Amino acid sequence: MGEEEKILQTYFGYESFRPGQKEAIANILQTNNTLAVMPTGGGKSLCYQIPGLSLDGTAIIISPLISLMKDQVDGLNALGIPATFINSSLSANEQQVRLKNMAARRYKFVYVAPERFESGSFVNVVKNIPLSLVAFDEAHCISQWGHDFRPSYRSIVPNLTRLTNIPVFVALTATATEEVITDIQSLLNIKNNHVINTGFERENLSFHVVKGKDKATYVRSFLQEHLNESGIIYTATRKQADTLYEQLSRRGIACEKYHAGMGEDERKRAQAAFIQDEKTVMIATNAFGMGIDKSNVRYVIHYAMPMTIESYYQEAGRAGRDGEPSDCILLFSPQDVQLQKFLIEQSLMDDEAKRAEYRKLQAMINYCHTHGCLTAFILEYFDDKPAETTCGRCSNCLNRQEKTDITEEAQMILSCVKRMGERFGVGMTAKVLKGSNDKKLHNFGLHKLTTYGILSAYTEKELTERIHFLVAEKLLDTEEGRFPTLKLNKESVEVLKGRRTVWIYTAPIPVTEEADYHLDLFDNLRRLRKKLADEKGVPPYVLFSDATLKELSRYFPD
Ligand code: ADP
Ligand code: MG
Ligand code: ZN
Repeated sequence: MGEEEKILQTYFGYESFRPGQKEAIANILQTNNTLAVMPTGGGKSLCYQIPGLSLDGTAIIISPLISLMKDQVDGLNALGIPATFINSSLSANEQQVRLKNMAARRYKFVYVAPERFESGSFVNVVKNIPLSLVAFDEAHCISQWGHDFRPSYRSIVPNLTRLTNIPVFVALTATATEEVITDIQSLLNIKNNHVINTGFERENLSFHVVKGKDKATYVRSFLQEHLNESGIIYTATRKQADTLYEQLSRRGIACEKYHAGMGEDERKRAQAAFIQDEKTVMIATNAFGMGIDKSNVRYVIHYAMPMTIESYYQEAGRAGRDGEPSDCILLFSPQDVQLQKFLIEQSLMDDEAKRAEYRKLQAMINYCHTHGCLTAFILEYFDDKPAETTCGRCSNCLNRQEKTDITEEAQMILSCVKRMGERFGVGMTAKVLKGSNDKKLHNFGLHKLTTYGILSAYTEKELTERIHFLVAEKLLDTEEGRFPTLKLNKESVEVLKGRRTVWIYTAPIPVTEEADYHLDLFDNLRRLRKKLADEKGVPPYVLFSDATLKELSRYFPD
């Protein structure tokens, strides 16, 4: 057993390393500047903590998240390791005391924010004590290509790399985009073979999008099935959090709530009750979670769609930090989009910033409407190349049993967009396709188009859904803005010319537990249908798509 494994087991009490940890540690111990790219919860801290313990001198960890420093330090102290943080949350006096201790070489780990290097007395201490390493946590913040660029973080790098008493630099991030990686490499002089990149994917998380269900009912039945598991439900507003909290507590569910409208003491109490597992469910706005490291969160439910994929992945990613299988569920309703648009309009951003927000919002909307793999969608959004195009565990992958060719329908929708002069949005287009009597159509003369009522067999809601689907699959563009207009793109033309087929995936068939679906489809369906009818009184059309039923009718003459 190597030195590192011994430290892992005796100090930290863990059995084995997570992917990438051992390589990162070995690199650092050989004083190679190292970049570790690992997903949130992947265990980046250990990558510098173990070398920091086995090397002489003090390790300095630079982190832009002041709220996380205390937790890290408390964790190390609890293991008997001398560590501290020096930041603006402390009184000037306390900062002085800790700085003196640092100068006296009393700490193995010192956590600071980048701004600390603007203080001459701090830099003086750094120059004059033996150091083991300097680590840049959340290192994507030093890159302007990162989603969270901090100029003050970047500006300290040249001065630090000039110091001669730093044996090795370590950079840690969960952002895997190529630009960010090369940027960090060149700033900190990290060679290609010293980049440890385990990718961005968190294989223990299953993503689900749930549409067209009553949210409160869904949550109640979900909680029934997950009674003793810890989970977070994010709401879009404080009011929504209050209401849901009321509803669930009335039904005897052990929950807490947390949002910025509550007093500080009350928030602290609620947070502690959740973290210590006294209450299993936390109902919160996005004010909850920053700087919280609870490892056994089994599910994160979004009661409404957030504004961006970035915030969604961050909030959903609070599930399963212990590596155990966990669910991330997004409950979508069209009103969520209106709320987010309202928030963008209300904000004080200038027009260009608003356009950028609308672009991000559109990606989030697309996530809710794609029929492709949700995991792959997220990885692609962050420019991480997914290893597989299907993860096999998200709601879309699980729904993949049946696909239907909707090319003709798509052509009708696209030609309608064209006939409408590419000047209208989803709502109006759906109305024209439906052949709606809405006066607005008459005002624009849209009721005279040849595509008016061309898909009248569908409801307006279904048509809206289809149009969103085409946008999500990039077969149709929308311009960003509050009332985005639909535009044809190159792919639309391919579809219109019949050179590209459009598929949708239809509802799942719940046969997984029954038997091997592929071996004997109809036999299983027959048994399943009987079982469901007998036990639950479920009529078959609730569960099976039209195509399946048509197929089935050959076997079931009734
Ligand atoms: P990151 O900074 O990458 O988001 P952390 O370093 O905070 O992740 O680690 C996340 C969780 O995983 C922590 O609770 C940590 O103690 C735990 N952890 C880290 N490495 C291991 C390991 N080898 N075995 C088990 N748990 C680990
Ligand atoms: Mg971390
Ligand atoms: Zn998938």
